[in-house]
Amino acid sequence: MSTLKETAVGTTVRIENVHGEGALRQHFLDMGLIPGTEVTVVKYAPMGDPVSLSVRGYDLTLRLADAEKIDVTSVDVRKVQASVRSGKKNKKAEHPGLGEGGRFHPKGSGDPLPDGTVMRFALVGNQNSGKTTLFNRLTGSKQHVGNFPGVTVDRKDGAIKGRPDTLITDLPGIYSMSPYSSEEIVSRSFVLDDKPHAIINIVDATNIERNLYLTMQLLETDIPMVIAVNMMDELTANGGSIDINTMEEMLGVPVVPISAAKNSGIDELIDHAVHIAHYREKPLQRDFCGKDENGGALHRCLHGIRHLIEDHAEKAGLPLRFAASKVAEGDRLIIDRLELDDSEKEMIGHIVKQMENERGLDRSAAVADMRFTYIEKLCARTVSKPAESREHKRSAKIDRILTGKWTAIPSFIIIMGLVFFLTFSVIGAWLQELLESGISALIALADEAFVRAEVNATIRGLIVDGIFEGVGSVLSFLPIIVTLFFFLSMLEDSGYIARVAFFMDKILRKFGLSGRSIVPLLIGFGCTVPAVMSTRTLPSDRDRKMTILLTPFMSCTAKVPIYGFFADAFFPEYSWLVTTALYILGIIVGILAAILYKSTIFRGEPVPFVMELPNYRLPGARNVGQLLWEKAKDFIQRAFSIILVATVAVWFLKNFDLHMNPVSDPADSILALAAGVISPIFAPVGMNDWRISVSLVCGALAKESVVSTLEVLFTDDITQAFSVLTAVSILVFSLLYTPCVAAVASVKRELGVKWAAGLVLWQCVVAWIVTLAVRAVFLLMGVV
Ligand code: GDP
Ligand code: MG
Repeated sequence: MSTLKETAVGTTVRIENVHGEGALRQHFLDMGLIPGTEVTVVKYAPMGDPVSLSVRGYDLTLRLADAEKIDVTSVDVRKVQASVRSGKKNKKAEHPGLGEGGRFHPKGSGDPLPDGTVMRFALVGNQNSGKTTLFNRLTGSKQHVGNFPGVTVDRKDGAIKGRPDTLITDLPGIYSMSPYSSEEIVSRSFVLDDKPHAIINIVDATNIERNLYLTMQLLETDIPMVIAVNMMDELTANGGSIDINTMEEMLGVPVVPISAAKNSGIDELIDHAVHIAHYREKPLQRDFCGKDENGGALHRCLHGIRHLIEDHAEKAGLPLRFAASKVAEGDRLIIDRLELDDSEKEMIGHIVKQMENERGLDRSAAVADMRFTYIEKLCARTVSKPAESREHKRSAKIDRILTGKWTAIPSFIIIMGLVFFLTFSVIGAWLQELLESGISALIALADEAFVRAEVNATIRGLIVDGIFEGVGSVLSFLPIIVTLFFFLSMLEDSGYIARVAFFMDKILRKFGLSGRSIVPLLIGFGCTVPAVMSTRTLPSDRDRKMTILLTPFMSCTAKVPIYGFFADAFFPEYSWLVTTALYILGIIVGILAAILYKSTIFRGEPVPFVMELPNYRLPGARNVGQLLWEKAKDFIQRAFSIILVATVAVWFLKNFDLHMNPVSDPADSILALAAGVISPIFAPVGMNDWRISVSLVCGALAKESVVSTLEVLFTDDITQAFSVLTAVSILVFSLLYTPCVAAVASVKRELGVKWAAGLVLWQCVVAWIVTLAVRAVFLLMGVV
């Protein structure tokens, strides 16, 4: 017997034993790595670690250190291939409808919900199973985005199109009801505690075994459920098929084949979902432990536990069968919730021990094995898989370059370079110029109209120089921001970022992070708020904290107006170069900070890296459109709320003195007076102009305000007012100083007040030091 770590590429082996402990081991088991399973080593990452495996028809990555914990023996490859080829073809059959003709309860015989109840649905499924696509299909454009109570994970709710009596919640993707990351906890507690009327469980047909593992656990919760088997278009195009009727019979809930991307089967899904929710039709099957399977040891164990905990489960509000499996599995959270007596715990301990002895597997492995055994039986009877799908072949081909030994990192640099180049100097920039000239023309027109109408000069000043110029200067950056979000979402949805995490893992580990941290960091280039939220997918607290503290170093899009403004004014020829240099500077300082964090506050090892590598897919236009619309809306809202208010306030404070008399020289204004207090702090870094201090303070509200404030405060040519060195200082300082209030608030929600306050202070200190250093370099080069 050897371990998975020593297995050569292309070799198929059988898992004999999974060592390790706790949540990580449970996660391995949940992902399908259980004794008896056959896995094939696909490839090693360019730097030799992690390794990617093919298991149960999908690709999974694992670090060598974790692969070492899995004992394997070699198997006869020919046998494996033969079993794949023998897949039979299913005949096409009519899918029974609802009501009298259908299998699921004749019309009206159930126990319907009272009239007027809003039916609440939870949309549950694995990551990348098409949840978001389906959600957008079901709800159309009528949806609202918010947060789950108490946490900042994105929560999307919406009513089904044409059904105002429904409410669907799109939950974060989960692989199992044993939560591994904090985002998974959200999904699990929504299902268990929010008591939705029904679950819509979305299952990826092209990856059905692993997806059904979650289904098994959802069925145990005894909540009415309908299964949507998604990606049917892909499965059938590759020659696969599913016997839906038999699957329905074996699972005891309606199963509807759909294609969310192609919009087929959605109406039928809605009919079934509404029907089961309305008539409260519970799953007919909850028991998946065969009486005679492996001597029936687990069957007896589960049923024994069931009887023992019945009253406790009821008191704790937990579904009985679900609680029993979790107790058998050894799930601490559920065991604690049941509040068992010591003698009961002891009894259960004996029952489990007996089962482990008879079964020859430990408790977690035995329960996972039971689920996968049932799934195997189910799939053998109902699913005819294509040998290898076109999509998988295509992905393997793309991966030869994008994760190839010598090509992975260069491709990454080229792709990211291209994204920024297209955003800042081609698509986004072109659209921005267009919008800018439009806005300027509008402002000129308005100004003229005011002059003609002989409007009071102060009012005209407020509207034209204050509001229009201020908000307009920010608004014109909308195209660049939307373009950057477009590319980032393309990278994420296509499956590329998962690959980046795969081949960057080894490098990131040197800085004390894991490959998964790359996702929040890349999103940080868009906006720090969603970046901080997305750290919820990281399974360890330490990694999460550290990643959150590093995201502010990734220059967000709100700073783009600042770069654009100064680069255009001071370095019109090299504006692209200046922007790039700032981004790189942010990354370098971030790396230095990571090294510092790693050796001070965040000692210890980054968490294991277990991640699915989905096939490459072209993101749906609808999803991308929806996302861009949300981002644009958000930006415009900010421009017209926080930035508008800040602009007006600045304009007012600049034009009046403490006695509310209009001032002729802004240097006498309230603003100059107040700013004079903090200006000395900026003196050593060459920004001791009160107007700069004011802009930076406004920038803490929203980074775009730096520019709108400067627009209000400097009515003449800015290149006359500042030296090049001052411009450089402002740029560097803006890059690094405190994140905006929205970002700080999201850090606060994730980590608490202390961390958020510390972050604000720390970022300012870092910004100050780095600005000083950059100034020194420029002074040495003779720039003043
Ligand atoms: P989520 O992670 O579960 O929210 O999944 P998404 O909705 O983001 O979908 C993941 C990917 O699968 C996207 O690229 C979708 O375009 C694609 N996808 C979703 N549904 C289907 C489908 O029915 N057929 C095919 N071929 N692709 C789909
Ligand atoms: Mg999604």
